[in-house]
Amino acid sequence: MTTLSMLIAGERRSATGGATFERRNPLDGSIATVAPAATPADAVAAVDAAAQAFPAWSQTGPGERRALLLKAVHALEARADAFVQAMAAETGASAMWAGFNVHLAAGLLTEAAALTTQIGGEVIPSDVPGSLAMGVRQAAGVVLGIAPWNAPVILGVRAIATPLACGNTVVLKGSELCPRTHALIVEALNEAGLPPGVLNFVTNAPADAGAVVEAMVAHPAVRRVNFTGSTRVGRIIAQTCAKYLKPAVLELGGKAPLVVLDDADIDAAVNAAAFGAFANSGQICMSTERIVVDAAIADAFAAKFAAKAQSLPLGDPREGPVVLGSVVDQSTVARCNALIDDALAKGARLLCGSRADSTLMPATVLDHVTPAMRIYREESFGPVKAIVRVNGVEEAVATANDNEFGLSSAVFGRDIARAWNVARRIEAGICHVNGPTVHDEAQMPFGGVKASGYGRFGGKAGVEAFTELRWITVQTTPRHYPF
Ligand code: NAD
Repeated sequence: MTTLSMLIAGERRSATGGATFERRNPLDGSIATVAPAATPADAVAAVDAAAQAFPAWSQTGPGERRALLLKAVHALEARADAFVQAMAAETGASAMWAGFNVHLAAGLLTEAAALTTQIGGEVIPSDVPGSLAMGVRQAAGVVLGIAPWNAPVILGVRAIATPLACGNTVVLKGSELCPRTHALIVEALNEAGLPPGVLNFVTNAPADAGAVVEAMVAHPAVRRVNFTGSTRVGRIIAQTCAKYLKPAVLELGGKAPLVVLDDADIDAAVNAAAFGAFANSGQICMSTERIVVDAAIADAFAAKFAAKAQSLPLGDPREGPVVLGSVVDQSTVARCNALIDDALAKGARLLCGSRADSTLMPATVLDHVTPAMRIYREESFGPVKAIVRVNGVEEAVATANDNEFGLSSAVFGRDIARAWNVARRIEAGICHVNGPTVHDEAQMPFGGVKASGYGRFGGKAGVEAFTELRWITVQTTPRHYPF
């Protein structure tokens, strides 16, 4: 068991009154972490600290910020074992998933370091004689980052890296389900030498999330909010941000379709679908949730996909290497069991896997899924996946788009021009032709449409999200006035 502190103005702090909350291991119920339960006043103190650090940090040169972020890469990688242990203890994640998290998060910091010299602007032709007019990007102020538990190192780092690179100061609100994992990120960045107050860390008890978040969004120094999490909470954050006129990047839920056209390389599609569906037991926003297969090849695809799914090792991640570890909690088990029961009652065929009694859920595939079944529409966020059979390209596109979400997607087909045209018509922020739906790289514009949210992280899109674009002029000759 680990007992955590928050970090405010470079100091380790308990919550006012010493209040704490527990995170328990999903498999055996043992206490994984005890963390401070911040009050709204504690959260406001964190924003105050960030506001105080902003003037100096925003004036640092890009080389200084780049050097600190590159040091943070090493400090993060040096904690790889601690991340593996923290993620297994707090969320039941496999060592493979934890290792991938550290690897990609290190890439996010490296990319952010490179962005420090890309915060540019432009000279814009002015109609006023002698006016030198510029569009200038500059740091916005304090950024509030809110990250979830499911890819905790990647998404925790994503919430802070580009904002810091742009010269903003940051408050990270850790997830109640993985406070220790998120605290390790903050520890690594501070070990790299960030000045006090540049990055602050707040943890809260689950029941206090709304009040703690609103207190920070309402603070006048907070100029940007980024939130990664469910669409349900994303709507609450969007409303709170609207109330205080704070721009937000919202990265929400998904129900990614992987379309398999009749000319697809079936083995390649099976491998991509299995990786996309079952990595981290399906608990990824980009997880392949609906496999939309042309009926002409559906039998061959389904047989190979089920065989592959059945072969994936499942077990307690603390006892050895597995592909499917524990899902995050019993509510995931209950949700996935209900989706399986509903689909089977309405005529779906179970190809492999089953409902589960514990958080060790097997890879489960349901075939002949129809729009009448809940799993056709609802995010499972677990290892339960649907095959939907369709006839031809038009029905494939219509089925892929028949969903409220629109984050990631994929299309498999040997006729690349045809597959590309399908990709162009899919309503999702991200689409990969002949690649898996689960694919993230630091420099890419990452984000969704429809109920998957708005705004983009990644590369130059991230710079746009976390800077203010200002119009600044210099009058270089005497100016003519009408009176
Ligand atoms: P969640 O929405 O339950 O929690 C995320 C955060 O919201 C937590 O920090 C929590 O404290 C906060 N929160 C909860 N109630 C709140 C309230 N009333 N007001 C303000 N904040 C509140 O999400 P989760 O279960 O941690 O994560 C899983 C979800 O995240 C899935 O839907 C998944 O698809 C999505 N996700 C999206 C992306 C993406 O990039 N689009 C990435 C990963 C996960």
